[in-house]
Amino acid sequence: MKLSLNTLPRGRSEQIFDSIAQLQHDESIEWKPLSLILDLSIDHHDQSFYLKGHVTCTGLFICSTGMEEFEDTLEGDFEFILTYNSKHLDDNASEEIILIPGPQIEYDLYPVVHDIVLLAIPISHICGPDCKAGKALQEGIQEEAKPDERWAKLKDMFNE
Ligand SMILES: [Zn+2]
Repeated sequence: MKLSLNTLPRGRSEQIFDSIAQLQHDESIEWKPLSLILDLSIDHHDQSFYLKGHVTCTGLFICSTGMEEFEDTLEGDFEFILTYNSKHLDDNASEEIILIPGPQIEYDLYPVVHDIVLLAIPISHICGPDCKAGKALQEGIQEEAKPDERWAKLKDMFNE
């Protein structure tokens, strides 16, 4: 997921990255990534690159209610400036700016994409409002919790 900085045209351009391999080989990820798309728009001025990205990632996750596997799509956005010019840091206090030691051939966007995807995962990640596996699981627990009739009879005997 490397953006070639040295070949970027001046002004606006668009790029799409769709390689899932790096995410699939990432050992810090405990679910199964299926597809990934990064829509990137770049605005290149002088020594700076204004980057705006939209990340869409589908994967197989474990439902926190029913513990079954389900497919979900995660989405997130990022926006930052890459610059060779340290003067830029003072001028734009409100924006996220990354100073890169210039000139670089490429910039790896993978760490950014990785963080966006992980932040998009809800804390309680469920397959939907009506989790069938969750209902079945709960019914199973209630079934087990029911008092055994044989014990009830024994109890009566003691009471008599
Ligand atoms: Zn579920």
